[in-house]
Amino acid sequence: SISVFTPPRGTQFLRLNFRFRTMASHVVGYPRMGPKRELKFALESFWDGKSNSEDLEKVAADLRSSIWKQMADAGIKYIPSNTFSYYDQVLDTTAMLGAVPPRYGWNGGEIGFDVYFPMARGNASVPAMEMTKWFDTNYHYIVPELGPDVKFSYASHKAVSEYKEAKSLGIDTVPVLVGPVSFLLLSKAAKGVEKSFPLLSLIEKILPVYKEVIAELKAAGASWIQFDEPTLVKDLDSHQLQAFSHTYSELESSLSGLNVLIETYFADVPAEAFKTVTSLKCVTALGFDLVRGSKNLDLIKSGFPSEKYLFAGVVDGRNIWANDLASSLSTLQALENLVGKDKLVVSTSCSLLHTAVDLMNETRLDEEIKSWLAFAAQKLIEVNALAKALAGQKDEAVFSANAAARTSRKSSPRVTNGAVQKAAAALKGSDHRRATTVCARLESQQKKLSLPALPTTTIGSFPQTLELRKVRREYKANKISEEDYVKYITEEISKVVKLQEDLDIDVLVHGEPERNDMVEYFGEQLSGFAFTANGWVQSYGSRCVKPPIIYGDVSCPKPMTVFWSSRAQSMSKRPMKGMLTGPVTILNWSFVRDDQPRFETCYQIALAIKDEVEDLEKAGINVIQIDEAALREGLPLRKSEEAFYLNWAVHSFRITNCGVQDTTQIHTHMCYSNFNDIIHSIIDMDADVITIENSRSDEKLLSVFREGVKYGAGIGPGVYDIHSPRIPSTEEIADRISKMLAVLDTNILWVNPDCGLKTRKYTEVKPALSNMVAAAKLLRDQL
Ligand code: GLN
Ligand code: ZN
Repeated sequence: SISVFTPPRGTQFLRLNFRFRTMASHVVGYPRMGPKRELKFALESFWDGKSNSEDLEKVAADLRSSIWKQMADAGIKYIPSNTFSYYDQVLDTTAMLGAVPPRYGWNGGEIGFDVYFPMARGNASVPAMEMTKWFDTNYHYIVPELGPDVKFSYASHKAVSEYKEAKSLGIDTVPVLVGPVSFLLLSKAAKGVEKSFPLLSLIEKILPVYKEVIAELKAAGASWIQFDEPTLVKDLDSHQLQAFSHTYSELESSLSGLNVLIETYFADVPAEAFKTVTSLKCVTALGFDLVRGSKNLDLIKSGFPSEKYLFAGVVDGRNIWANDLASSLSTLQALENLVGKDKLVVSTSCSLLHTAVDLMNETRLDEEIKSWLAFAAQKLIEVNALAKALAGQKDEAVFSANAAARTSRKSSPRVTNGAVQKAAAALKGSDHRRATTVCARLESQQKKLSLPALPTTTIGSFPQTLELRKVRREYKANKISEEDYVKYITEEISKVVKLQEDLDIDVLVHGEPERNDMVEYFGEQLSGFAFTANGWVQSYGSRCVKPPIIYGDVSCPKPMTVFWSSRAQSMSKRPMKGMLTGPVTILNWSFVRDDQPRFETCYQIALAIKDEVEDLEKAGINVIQIDEAALREGLPLRKSEEAFYLNWAVHSFRITNCGVQDTTQIHTHMCYSNFNDIIHSIIDMDADVITIENSRSDEKLLSVFREGVKYGAGIGPGVYDIHSPRIPSTEEIADRISKMLAVLDTNILWVNPDCGLKTRKYTEVKPALSNMVAAAKLLRDQL
């Protein structure tokens, strides 16, 4: 049953004048950090004991109210609440359900900061809960730890209090909850619980809490409720789909009298899941991602239930481009014909959490580029403009300005570079790989490099001191001269080189002191990239990233790293590794253009990096590492799309180094250890040496590698964890290396830390590396 379609506050007048149509607009969720990362600073100051909980709560309440008001002013009808979070919305749900792991010593009652933040970040006596990637975004959520013994109870009233808070400001919102099925599907079995424990079996235990929340929301006056069930876009089996039907039929009586919206996002919903979700009886409205979900439109056309509302996610929540309003409007008009005039609501493709906050704060971007963009605040206006147009009140000025900006973007010489287009097009259909096998290459390389068995190296960066960061900042702000800067960085490099020689490391690095960030450093020197001043996106907790914007064809006007790398090489007779970021990582950590497929952009970056690789080789650098820290991050959400992605991603990597001589040794580094499913792609990268994170010394990982690396490439599974300040002993490292040697051949094993040393202190790095070299030597002597 559908309850009344409530007219938005203050729009009665419009209803009378415009064919009795309301402007149906909705936003799935909104960034919490604030336009200038106000929440970040408030959180960090609270954590540091520099402010109290009231100060923090005040900042949070101000942010919430300004966001609600902003949405109301933008004419959004369905304004979400409970999308704010002090850390993470999944952790908020864990708190709502009272599913606090025993180690946090919670004794019941409403969960406060004293329990919430230790779960999120750990403290001196307890480690934090695990954090993992939220679907294919760069946001990370806190993974619920569940098992048969968890006693669920209603322990955080946040959803209800936020609803009431908005209401007291005169704004009737749609409270948003993480849906019960997605919550369980995103959980893991707690320590001590069988890995095979059926988490979905907990549904009967969590629904009573959901029912309490729903009852309170109803009592507080809510007329809508939104359940985010994004797991519906994943490959689910029939048992998992069944859980949706079961859950929402269990909730049916509690939900009666409420309009119920189920939101899906990040991809299209597989056909079976579409059938399941459209047949849920108590559900009034369904939200679909019409930006990433390429098949959603066809599914809707193939049959959308006549009595339900369609929340059409046409405004992209994952990117920063201005919407193509004309094209969205025609999509919406077609949908309107399908679902009925009063059943269509204009929405965002997903929460705006994954885009930057407000273009108004941009000082670094020029006006032309700005006219092509829309951050969260501008997306609200787009949603409203579309809803108004659909209701017969098209604002011609807005539409024509939008069309003009799109035309200028399309025809701008800053976007198109004929030579790059041509070179990238020429790549298609052909394969790019080095002419000889890795075994033959390693032999030629060894003749040139004469490395000992179990060669030692590091991953690239050395500690970045406050002073170093300051020098870089001042140079950027033109406060110190080029000459002084070069002198300072040269000295820094020479210290790092000397240290590595003293430690007797075999393959050296220059330490990356000139780099602030492994993507930004390259982006700033490549053409086709723009950088924002405040384009922050939440990554986890208070941490935000500021992805570069790739707006045009990418090329590399002049060498980017040759100056520093050859200077470093001149300081030592030992091989100096050139250090580059790979094309897939640059792509995956940027806002990518939406006017060509991702792989096109990736190929262009690959060609730019190829130029750099060849310049380094010409400058006498014989070992070059091309980091692909984020290769795995780009994996699509669905199995059926993986092969295509891996194929172009790995091809892009090979393009960067297919032109080098056999004697040039290509390394790659990846920051994760879960390789099992992509090992064949990693082999297909055809690097000479692969270094990977291996902090848990997972032996299964090594056997996977042995299978894969039979073809003979060098492999360097990290021998110690750089994420911890702990200094590993020589014995401990030697023990790890011998375990590796039990599985891998002596002639392919490299000895190196897990990742770069940028975030560590020299007081940690020196003894740790010294023990690492000692351990390598110990084992060499035993060979
Ligand atoms: N070369 C980079 C460094 O050492 C690699 C960092 C990374 O893999 N995330 O900092
Ligand atoms: Zn790494």
